[in-house]
Amino acid sequence: QAPVIAIDGPSGVGKGTLALSVSQAQQWHLLDSGALYRLVALSALRRGTALDDARVLGETARHLPVRFEVVQDQGVRIDLDGDDVTRAIREESVGEAASRVATLPTVRAGLLDRQRDFQQAPGLVADGRDMGTVVFPDAALKVFLTASALVRARRRAAQLSVSEDSAIFERIYSDIIQRDERDATRATAPLKPADDAVIIDTSELGIEQVFDRVMALIAE
Ligand code: C5P
Repeated sequence: QAPVIAIDGPSGVGKGTLALSVSQAQQWHLLDSGALYRLVALSALRRGTALDDARVLGETARHLPVRFEVVQDQGVRIDLDGDDVTRAIREESVGEAASRVATLPTVRAGLLDRQRDFQQAPGLVADGRDMGTVVFPDAALKVFLTASALVRARRRAAQLSVSEDSAIFERIYSDIIQRDERDATRATAPLKPADDAVIIDTSELGIEQVFDRVMALIAE
């Protein structure tokens, strides 16, 4: 089977950026598993399905009509049933809904095989919350990124050009804390590092430094 590099950690810790650059450096496939949870959430919001309807959302997850297309130099374009939802799934409201539907065991089970389908030659870089613990327990390398909620809130605010003494900053910070709480306390696949994961605290590190550290681990 093709080798997997699992990159897990909480919201806003920089997993997506790291996974993308590692996959490009290795010329391996990329799985953004959070996008799948966001797609289930977006489908639910569009169809008016209650976000706690375990049965219907489990079916949604299992039959998600999604296509990931790699667009040269632009990353991945995401198509849901003929509709380009690349931007739509990044909205705050969808992220919030994704964090809710991700607590449903039916949704997690429904997405399992779809995630494993990404494991193809020459290799896969998979980013999420449970890549190393549940989806790819045999991953060749498991990296778990951490950073304090405050550091992650500051980074997010900088991306959005939001000042740290604004009400919006308070909101960003409390959303991160709430999402951490939901990820950590859900019954199925709560967020925690795999026993054999390498933990990297990125609070004091730049993106480049984290990347270099992971590439060094791969070379080991
Ligand atoms: O990483 P991202 O913010 O795109 O993920 C959206 C939501 O999906 C997260 O809030 C998290 O609760 C959930 N998720 C998950 N397991 C994964 C990836 C994401 O539960 N492997």
